[in-house]
Amino acid sequence: MHKHYVFGPVASRRLGISLGVDPIRQKCCTLDCVYCEAGKTVELTCQRRNFAPLEMIQAELADALKEAPRLDYITFSGTGEPTLYLPLAELAQWIKTNYPAYKICLLTNGTLLHDPEVRKVLEFVDLAMPNFDASNDEELAIINRPAAGITVESIADGIRSACREYPGKIALELFIVPGVNDDQTSISRFAGYIKSFAGLRSVQLNTLDRPGVEEWVKPAPAETIRKFIAALESIVPVEAVGRYRFRSYALREDVVLQELDHDLLELLRRRSATAEDIALTLKISPEKARERAEELLKGGMLCAEKMERGIFYSAV
Ligand code: SF4
Repeated sequence: MHKHYVFGPVASRRLGISLGVDPIRQKCCTLDCVYCEAGKTVELTCQRRNFAPLEMIQAELADALKEAPRLDYITFSGTGEPTLYLPLAELAQWIKTNYPAYKICLLTNGTLLHDPEVRKVLEFVDLAMPNFDASNDEELAIINRPAAGITVESIADGIRSACREYPGKIALELFIVPGVNDDQTSISRFAGYIKSFAGLRSVQLNTLDRPGVEEWVKPAPAETIRKFIAALESIVPVEAVGRYRFRSYALREDVVLQELDHDLLELLRRRSATAEDIALTLKISPEKARERAEELLKGGMLCAEKMERGIFYSAV
């Protein structure tokens, strides 16, 4: 079954092995972050709507789960902001009812959590990871470039309510952008906000790992990450997101080239990846992954960029 809304399982730095659910499938978001792996936001909006038929996503999920794959999470994420999908809580409830053995994670930018209707999804997820990258509105404008009406205070309000209503389920992700949100004053402001999120499970510090939207964004040096840890660890457990957590997999046998290329393009449409990342996700050898990626690159369907971790391929 060719899938449009369900992808993976993918290996993720934050979540181990996760099956992705992308109910938006287009770059529609409440933010336009400079580090976004999915490219520039095409539609900047806070208007929630029915991007995809619920039954279609359910059918794709049923197909993906029919052989009971080993997963760490089923994760709402993908191309846009998942909480913009109107029936998200209904979808999460359906997964919990029909596949109770699986844990659900929501990757969100947190901008809509101030709305009690949006927070209903938290009842059915095991973990929600909102972003909190700006310690004031100036940083928000530079890093996250939000839709009208979104402020640091409105995001903080939503996260505060979510932590209060679902203690232990919310883990913050803080993306460090050197030169914008990493001086001592910013770090102190972050500490103040994080203290006010009573019930918060943890903070994950993240920094650039693959090509983002803006070239001026660089990875944070280890020294900066250490400063954040020193300021926050007495408030809440802090983790600096490392390289992928690997789990070995049997390689896919009898790979049909056309299917493999389709899966590879679907994967790279959502985020860029190295040959090793592709291999792990698609269960093929790194040599095969590199060979197919290079072939598609020659055909003009992919582009490539060299980063510290290797060559990252992404769909054109
Ligand atoms: S990083 Fe997330 S929140 Fe930011 S623009 Fe991309 S999809 Fe939207």
